[in-house]
Amino acid sequence: MCGIFGYVGAKNNAGQLVVKGLKNLEYRGYDSWGVACKVGETAVVEKDIGKISSVDESQFSEECGMAIAHTRWATHGGVTPANAHPHLNASGTIAVVHNGIIENYQTLRDDLKTKGYAFKSETDTEVIPYMIEEEMKATDDFASAVRNACSKFDGRYGILAFHTESNTLVATRTGSPLIVGVGEEGYFIASDIPAFMEHTKVVQYLDDGEMLVTDGKSILFTDLETGQEHPKREIEITWSVEQAQKGEYAHFMLKEIMEQKDSIARAVNQDEQQIQVIADAIKNARGTFIIGCGTAHKACMAAEYFFSVVAEKHINVTSAGEFKVHHHFLKPESLLIVVSQSGETADSLEAMKIARGKGAKVLAITNAEGSTIDREADYTLLINAGPERAVASTKALTGQMAVLMLIAHTMVDKLHEGKTLLLETVSMINDMLNPRYVEHIESLAEEIQNTEDLYIIGKSWNYPMALESAIKIQEVSYIHAEGFAASELKHGPLALIEERTPCIALLGNDEVTPDIISNTIELKARGARTIGIAPENNEAFDEWIKVPDAGAAQAIVNIIPIQVFAYFLAVKRGMDPDMPRNLAKSVTVK
Ligand code: GLU
Repeated sequence: MCGIFGYVGAKNNAGQLVVKGLKNLEYRGYDSWGVACKVGETAVVEKDIGKISSVDESQFSEECGMAIAHTRWATHGGVTPANAHPHLNASGTIAVVHNGIIENYQTLRDDLKTKGYAFKSETDTEVIPYMIEEEMKATDDFASAVRNACSKFDGRYGILAFHTESNTLVATRTGSPLIVGVGEEGYFIASDIPAFMEHTKVVQYLDDGEMLVTDGKSILFTDLETGQEHPKREIEITWSVEQAQKGEYAHFMLKEIMEQKDSIARAVNQDEQQIQVIADAIKNARGTFIIGCGTAHKACMAAEYFFSVVAEKHINVTSAGEFKVHHHFLKPESLLIVVSQSGETADSLEAMKIARGKGAKVLAITNAEGSTIDREADYTLLINAGPERAVASTKALTGQMAVLMLIAHTMVDKLHEGKTLLLETVSMINDMLNPRYVEHIESLAEEIQNTEDLYIIGKSWNYPMALESAIKIQEVSYIHAEGFAASELKHGPLALIEERTPCIALLGNDEVTPDIISNTIELKARGARTIGIAPENNEAFDEWIKVPDAGAAQAIVNIIPIQVFAYFLAVKRGMDPDMPRNLAKSVTVK
């Protein structure tokens, strides 16, 4: 979590530049912000609590060629101006921003305190500038001091630090992403590409266990431990600045929901040979596991049904953070499928490491080309959703499910059938997402906005979508929402139903429809206000949201009205759906 952005080069407005660019990374953390500019021989820091988007960058007008900035998602220490980054050494010659956790910070802090360092914050981060200063007692070279300091840190992190006296900017990484934008007038280093996209589209990725050093004129990548030089490829990114903007929409979340008619089509447009290779690898694997976190985990759960129904193949689904317990079952012939929007999810990376340790192969399904998960996997299928900026994942989920559905079809030589099904689904979604449809859902959200509880039921592939519906509603509207397998109702949840409790049933037009209709009638009999999301109306529903009959792709269709509903619940309740409290996109800490 947290966004980092730094610049060094010939431009003389580095402070303004990094604050402006960092606004594009606000989705990564938004409890506080800060910037350090090299002015003369010292770092001038401005920091505060609140969102970076509310900061006017024109105030950082001082001439400056090197600056770093941070938007925080606090892990250690409360949300206070003192805890906001950057953190400095006492003389203000070393400035640091940090993404991640220095796990052994307590021991290091106690040790540094005995050496006379006076801590001003409660963060783990503050040990970094002092440790670098301590190391500089043994060397004049800033980069070497950073390297030596990092050898003392445990944990996963991305660090950006500058030294005013040598005019050097250094970045190191052991987990949290850092990407370099190579410009004509210097180097941009950020947690994600949108920070510098208006300046350059040529990027270089810093890998785990690497360090980079730049003075704005040249850049050197080395192994963080040994100092050995690492050659780097320059990669040109293909998406545009406009794709990363809100355009006519009030929020990214709504824009990204509406984009799904295009983004699913892009996900389906896979290289046929490559998808065949992947389908064969799954067919031949002895033990296939699929993991993800949050919404991506719900895509994995849906995939269990796709693989079972379409390809009669069993796959083992686990939340990435729970994967470790399965390590006994991994063999070199096993396959791990990792689903991650950002390609940087910490728990998914950890699971990948476990699988790799057992010699298993890894398939990544991600939206982020060049991300760690993409680069470390044996095979990758990109979902090509374009930048997803809202914290609540929408178009990435449907892209992930579309790719997984396509793989399931390819495994039984039905790639073209799968493609046709998905492209027909795209065209049905296009028809569905018209202004009248959206207004209907908005008016329902208006009526239901004050509910305290809301339940969602589904069966078969609509069961993971019921769980996903609950996540979507919780994260943006803060309403207590829970999803259940419809068949589980009588085993407990039915006791929660009171007069007019809103209950949403997700249905398709298939063999489980009669069961879920019965379950919905049971809810209604106990006073629930029932809302059916289904291809056909039924007297079981007090309210009906029509969805097209998409056959095996019903799960992809059914989640879309829920996304719209969650969005409007948030807006009606006065919440910012793009930046829910306590959350951040791209969960790079475990
Ligand atoms: N652990 C650091 C802090 O709490 C960095 C958190 C982040 O990644 O934003 O300040």
